[in-house]
Amino acid sequence: MPLETIVNYAYVLAAVMFILGLMWMTSVPTARRGNLVSSLGMLIAAVATLFLVQGNQMLSLAWIAGALVVGSVIGLLLAVRTPMTGMPQMVALLNGFGGIASLLVAWGDYETWRGKLETAQSGLAALGGLIASTPAELPIARHGYEFLAIGLTVLVGGVTFTGSLVAFGKLQGLKITPGRPIQFKGQQIINTLLVLIALAASVALIFEPTWGWLIVPIAIASLVLGVLLVIGIGGADMPVVISLLNSYSGIAAAFAGFVLNNSALIITGALVGASGIILTSIMCKAMNRSLLNVLFGGVGGASGSAGGGGSGKTGGQVREFSMEDAGIVLDAARQVMVVPGYGMAVAQAQHSVKELADELERRGINVKYAIHPVAGRMPGHMNVLLAEANVPYESLLDLDQSNAEFEQTDVALVIGANDVTNPAARTATDSPIYGMPILDVDKARTIFVIKRSMNTGFAGVENDLYYDPKTAMLFGDAKKVVSALTSALKNG
Ligand code: NDP
Repeated sequence: MPLETIVNYAYVLAAVMFILGLMWMTSVPTARRGNLVSSLGMLIAAVATLFLVQGNQMLSLAWIAGALVVGSVIGLLLAVRTPMTGMPQMVALLNGFGGIASLLVAWGDYETWRGKLETAQSGLAALGGLIASTPAELPIARHGYEFLAIGLTVLVGGVTFTGSLVAFGKLQGLKITPGRPIQFKGQQIINTLLVLIALAASVALIFEPTWGWLIVPIAIASLVLGVLLVIGIGGADMPVVISLLNSYSGIAAAFAGFVLNNSALIITGALVGASGIILTSIMCKAMNRSLLNVLFGGVGGASGSAGGGGSGKTGGQVREFSMEDAGIVLDAARQVMVVPGYGMAVAQAQHSVKELADELERRGINVKYAIHPVAGRMPGHMNVLLAEANVPYESLLDLDQSNAEFEQTDVALVIGANDVTNPAARTATDSPIYGMPILDVDKARTIFVIKRSMNTGFAGVENDLYYDPKTAMLFGDAKKVVSALTSALKNG
């Protein structure tokens, strides 16, 4: 059997594994299997491609192995050293690397083709001046759509690269990329012009394939566009932006697949692109925003950095409880709703939370968990942490299920969550989180809030919940406070 046929079979197998993997990743109990199967699929596709590359004698295996080792070591170090709370930044960077890789692959492939074309032309010239008038008459002829694909890969890859770098900076709280949306007059017009320049140059490449310089304006326009698009987006909309950039990185890879005529890359890129778009739409729904509003609305937080900044003093008295008093209230409850947020992830308090829940359940108290879709710093962040602590999946309620339960809840135990509980989202029309559906913790009979200070959350918005007469603050690190509550219950 020819090598290419075997490689194509391997690609089909890899594609089936990707699809099965994605299917299994949609539910927590099967997610690990999904991850493993998809990774194996990727390994099969990569190894098959190596055979193809070797067969075509495009590049020596030694070079590839060298790059693989360097990349793997950097990847491993990054993965091991990045805390769970730093995952969005890591994902942003990985999306960006995907984008720039696609851009370079497409551009490199074009230059390789041009090199071959020049060699062929000079060969023909040497054979008696028979210079072909168009590249289509040469043995290295390419389809027009392949040149279009080169332009589009550079366009989407470039936007993904710089857009992801800005997203990384915003999430990391770098001074150079403030969390607030930066918008100026005429920004939309400049963005539209940049898209038009890149598209026009891509189309021109179909008709004048030898005009390689056309790739330069496409690259510059796309790199500038990536920056302009993402600086205009506010801190609170970062979940949407990250999933959108994730989708772009897939689309860039799919275009690169057309450039290279590689079906595995087309399939993988299309799957990433499509699932990224689905995730973007889920996140938009969670924030109650349309994608256009996120991209061009310029609504967003002032802080943008992890953990927020500034201190909240919206007036009124804040009530503080001792552990003993809180223990007594918890002991008398029939239903406790745990509301986890980013602070639980920072404190790595999930195991202590499970211990507290076990203690409450031993006392016949019903414990449930209210999971907001954008709680934490990545989609599914709370689900992953709680699954790690063996919290039963059935105890996790989504936004609507949770909100239907708060009125029957004796204690809402807010653990390091802030924005997702902020009533300003319902009423304050000028607030960056206005319109975002929140967990209605203020409907519970008593609200305990565990956090270290009066600092704001990710969106940089003050939270009136803390001044609600039903609210008691339990200040401190989430892990320490939750463990202290468990001890208070046991000793009480
Ligand atoms: P927030 O960021 O709104 O609030 C977290 C709170 O945790 C802070 O107010 C902080 O207060 C507290 N905290 C931090 N460290 C600790 C600790 N060690 N112990 C106790 N408390 C701690 O979190 P939410 O989960 O409520 O909301 C998520 C926000 O992140 C939303 O605005 C969302 O849009 C955004 N986002 C979400 C992404 C996603 O995909 N899920 C991605 C990017 C952004 P203090 O400093 O006083 O302790």
